[in-house]
Amino acid sequence: MPSYTPLPARVELAAVDHEVLAFWREHDIFARTVSQTAGGPEWVFYEGPPTANGRPGTHHVEARVFKDVFPRFKTMKGFHVTRQAGWDCHGLPVEIAVEKELGLSGKKDIEKVGIEAFNARCRESVQRYIGDFEELTERVGYWVDMSHPYWTMTPEFIDSVWWALKQINDKGLLVQDHRVAPYCPRCGTGLSDHEVAQGYETVTDPSVYVRLPITGELDGLTGVELLVWTTTPWTLVANTAVAVHPDVSYAVARTRRGTFVVAEPLLATVLGEDAEVLATMPGRRLEGVRYRRPFDLVDIPGAHFVITADYVTTEDGTGLVHQAPAFGADDLAACRRHNLPVVNPIGPDGHFHADIGLVGGKFFKEADPTLVADLERRGLLFRSTNYEHQYPHCWRCHTPLMYYAQLSWYIRTTARRTELQRENERTNWYPDHIKHGRFGDWLSNNVDWALSRSRYWGTPLPMWQCSAGHLTCVGSRAELGQLADKDLSGLDPHRPYIDDVTFPCPTCGDPASRVSEVIDAWFDSGSMPFASLGYPYVEGSVEAFEK
Ligand SMILES: [Zn+2]
Ligand SMILES: [Zn+2]
Repeated sequence: MPSYTPLPARVELAAVDHEVLAFWREHDIFARTVSQTAGGPEWVFYEGPPTANGRPGTHHVEARVFKDVFPRFKTMKGFHVTRQAGWDCHGLPVEIAVEKELGLSGKKDIEKVGIEAFNARCRESVQRYIGDFEELTERVGYWVDMSHPYWTMTPEFIDSVWWALKQINDKGLLVQDHRVAPYCPRCGTGLSDHEVAQGYETVTDPSVYVRLPITGELDGLTGVELLVWTTTPWTLVANTAVAVHPDVSYAVARTRRGTFVVAEPLLATVLGEDAEVLATMPGRRLEGVRYRRPFDLVDIPGAHFVITADYVTTEDGTGLVHQAPAFGADDLAACRRHNLPVVNPIGPDGHFHADIGLVGGKFFKEADPTLVADLERRGLLFRSTNYEHQYPHCWRCHTPLMYYAQLSWYIRTTARRTELQRENERTNWYPDHIKHGRFGDWLSNNVDWALSRSRYWGTPLPMWQCSAGHLTCVGSRAELGQLADKDLSGLDPHRPYIDDVTFPCPTCGDPASRVSEVIDAWFDSGSMPFASLGYPYVEGSVEAFEK
């Protein structure tokens, strides 16, 4: 006699699933695996929160299976593995979904509707899909405690995030700076490094070589022109200087089309084999040479001469690099060293200012054909081809990004790079090539974390400023209540309510009001190890975290 129930010839796998799930539910199996192992050693598991801004998809299944297998295995080995579910509530994905629902496009539209109504809709949209997520979670057999989830939008969670930001600020690592950062002109906000990495798309852009006539003589020669190469003709409107490498040798060479300066290693590639070299000189001898700029559309005082910069290479182009400090981090650094002005002809919506000739009101990328045609008409186009390359786009709305100078808040993660790398060495990675590959590379090329977002639905940056510019970083609602001399325990810490809270500046006594930014939602989810407990303010959170 068989000691097992014979299987039918055809197994209804889905039906078997449901039987097992019903058994688990009926006998409360998950909770019992946790309580039975309560005396065992702790194995810590963090449920990084999914963003519940839409119905769950198949990609959630894969992640949830991984997050189930390891805790389940460790529990079977006798470890105590608590698993608290969590929901990521803030950020651009939610805002964009709500913009679509309401038929809005961009920040002007949102402000017309009002931040209060817009944020109420964001909150509602996050809650709407939780039921679907819970159903999927149970259906795929992912064991996680969904009865006491943390939400990144609760006042307790936000208090905890503010606490962390205040620690960072007290260490001098939260700074405001004018920097060139990847920026989405449609969303009207900067993007962090890891967001940019998600959005490269293959596009065809113009690749143009532009002639910039030297005004006056070079080494006794007249009629000499600098040659620069760019794939972003729209930045030529803001041309401020031309950079050369101080130690690279540059040739002045004559061809049938004119006499040009190019880096010697690129001479044949750019000008062909039969160019006649009239002179050579190191880049440093070109410093200060004045040239006629490609477009006379905006005022850029005291500019338009050759500068030196160590970042210039002879890998491609001409070895002479056109500088537009508002649109390139290297350009900004090089131009600052030479006290050149930062002129930006493009507004935060990605369009050229309306009063600019030729391209006024045009979206930056759409100005390229007009500008290239104008260069050609004036005989300044040396060569023009199309160039297929990877260009970063907004990972959410697919708008091409601009590298754009703006005032933002940064966490100086680069000041802690060594410590981050040391911790990475102590981390077991599966698969192990990630350790020194993708993640290790990311750490060694780490740039400061662009923390602030000029948006609405997010953890407000807890920084208050008076008219004299004194900054006060606030670490909790309770602390804010003390500063404002008000009971704020019932305050919704989101915009617009938080923006109404002012207090006398602790330094000078003038009224201080909050800066307008919210923070990157990745900072919320990254805070979950302590913020899910409400550390350090919620009763018992300190003990729970330090365990
Ligand atoms: Zn965007
Ligand atoms: Zn003050």
